[in-house]
Amino acid sequence: MKLILLGAPGSGKGTMAAVLKKEYQITHISTGDIFRANIKEQTPLGIEAKKYIDQGALVPDELTISMVEDRLAQPDCANGYLLDGFPRTIAQAEKLDAMLASKNTKLDAVINVTVPAEVIMERVVNRRVCTSCGESYNVVSRPTKVEGVCDVCGKEVIQRDDDKPETVKQRLVTYEENTKPLIDFYMAKGIVITADNSSSPEVAFQQASEALSEMGFQKVQ
Ligand code: ADP
Ligand code: ZN
Repeated sequence: MKLILLGAPGSGKGTMAAVLKKEYQITHISTGDIFRANIKEQTPLGIEAKKYIDQGALVPDELTISMVEDRLAQPDCANGYLLDGFPRTIAQAEKLDAMLASKNTKLDAVINVTVPAEVIMERVVNRRVCTSCGESYNVVSRPTKVEGVCDVCGKEVIQRDDDKPETVKQRLVTYEENTKPLIDFYMAKGIVITADNSSSPEVAFQQASEALSEMGFQKVQ
């Protein structure tokens, strides 16, 4: 199964990814996570990407696409994957289509995680993430049991640099301009599943899994 997750910053895309990964035992590829790992290691890619990420801008398509191409060539992607944070531009989506077509395959579904605009800002500035396993928390609605320590793996939980209010505003503008058009792009292909995440992540996941089930994809029990 080849899936894409779409959603504005703060829509709960990351939480949805974690649940999908677990329930469908699917390889999860988050371009944001790969960039952050490169930044941490101070690789040339990380140093270049950081300039854009800290501004709330997108990393240039060229860099992003070649990074994803490398990742998709790895053996754990052979039976499918969940792309989280890619594509984020029409150019990336077209390139992905071409890559898949050259392997005689295509995307199965695009899960669009939706949430009303007014709650997004609040969610993102209250968000905290584990530096090791990527688990996501919220200081108001889902705090860690011990402050700054991940419930899942015990490592350090922090606020991302780009989750500061000024950067979040710019990320939302970037999303509207570059990424939102992808919804229509994939609607035209008839493969969009909407997961309404305004009430709870469980409800959103339920919607996604029902739609996937109708397409013949079942959870791994
Ligand atoms: P978000 O919470 O906004 O979904 P991500 O963790 O997916 O954040 O991405 C963090 C940042 O990494 C983005 O704001 C962007 O600068 C960069 N990035 C991630 N994926 C891509 C992509 N496909 N193309 C360009 N830049 C990307
Ligand atoms: Zn953790």
